[in-house]
Amino acid sequence: MTVSNPVPPADVLIVGAGIIGLAHAAEAVARGLSVHIIDRDTRAVGASIRNFGHCCVSAQSGELLELASAAREGWLRHSALAGFFAVESGALAVARNVQEVAVLEELSAVRGAGEVELVGAARVRQELSGSGDPAILGGALLHRDIRVDPREAVGRLAAWLATQPGVSFSWRTSYLGVADAGSSPEGPVTVRTSRGPVTASRAIVCVGHDLDWVHTELAEPFEVNRCALQMALVRPAAHTSIKRAVLTGTSMLRYPAFAETAAAAALRTELEARSPELLAIDANLMLTQRPDGTLLIGDSHHTETTQDPFLSEATSDTLMQAAQTLLGRNFEVLQRWQGIYASSPQQSFLIKELAPNVTAVSVTSGIGMTISFGLAQKTFAQF
Ligand SMILES: Cc1cc2nc3c(=O)[nH]c(=O)nc-3n(C[C@H](O)[C@H](O)[C@H](O)COP(=O)(O)OP(=O)(O)OC[C@H]3O[C@@H](n4cnc5c(N)ncnc54)[C@H](O)[C@@H]3O)c2cc1C
Repeated sequence: MTVSNPVPPADVLIVGAGIIGLAHAAEAVARGLSVHIIDRDTRAVGASIRNFGHCCVSAQSGELLELASAAREGWLRHSALAGFFAVESGALAVARNVQEVAVLEELSAVRGAGEVELVGAARVRQELSGSGDPAILGGALLHRDIRVDPREAVGRLAAWLATQPGVSFSWRTSYLGVADAGSSPEGPVTVRTSRGPVTASRAIVCVGHDLDWVHTELAEPFEVNRCALQMALVRPAAHTSIKRAVLTGTSMLRYPAFAETAAAAALRTELEARSPELLAIDANLMLTQRPDGTLLIGDSHHTETTQDPFLSEATSDTLMQAAQTLLGRNFEVLQRWQGIYASSPQQSFLIKELAPNVTAVSVTSGIGMTISFGLAQKTFAQF
């Protein structure tokens, strides 16, 4: 089979059918452009289906907060169009020491209770479906956060896109590089693929953490590496209902709106003393509940260019024990897996021209779901 290069060539060629590629395809459709999407696999199985499905809005700051706010609207709009689960659930940040309370108080003072609402221990326990760690002191409700089911959303979005006029897909088709970037800024671009050349007016390369496999010259200067995370799917006790995405103290060291508070430094010192096992695996202890009642629990972080394929049982045990303490109850582990995202110490995302009319877009931090649709708007605004 040769690649089904649309005739005439599409306005936009998207490489990669993860959330970043599909959000760009959706933005192109919204702008009335024709789109051809290629992916090396037969369906998306990358970071976009392995995550928590958490659009983590209120914990972002600066430009990331703007992108996340735009993405929030994009998720809700496309949930309605494509028929996938998305809920304006908000998130719950649980505080189990005075330093965590101080971080949440500081953020709430800046954002206001309408966005970051402080709540007491009883409400936190109720949000965790009863029980909960006896150490819980209180928490905050982050009202703008939303959730999707990561195992459903990207597939449904791709299926919906495939029904739109002017949209076509070529699965099991690998991008191999730019063949001809055209001689004028308006000229078409031809890329090489495993099924032959494909031409379009413009190409957007969204290959996630494999950017260095196709464009090492871009990945290396930005120190783009692979960050591997360990995750688990668990079955909680019957009738466990946790509406919000749940964040903890380790999340407060990670997401910028928390980490930029004055109180965050004391929190790091506290967690280094009380929870060294979580910092040793660079944990972000958090969970979300899928529509079928199972919980997505994670995660650890390990950054390296080439990742070992082996899951560490010790890391899993640390995460599962911490989650059981948080919930105050046991659960049954159903699945474990590794997810990988692109990571750069320099910036949270890249939008870079590779050649005339060829742009690489990669989220180089763990917030691709959060900023996806907003990032796509930003990319197109630059053309
Ligand atoms: C465990 C885990 C938890 C996370 N939790 C969250 C969260 O709750 N909220 C959040 O905002 N973010 C989260 N993230 C980050 C988020 O999942 C990623 O930032 C996002 O999914 C990246 O999307 P992507 O489309 O760039 O990559 P991917 O989903 O990996 O998609 C890339 C696609 O490109 C294709 N591809 C690669 N190379 C080629 C090639 N040469 N030719 C053709 N196709 C190619 C692949 O087949 C793949 O389908 C998490 C990540 C992980 C791993």
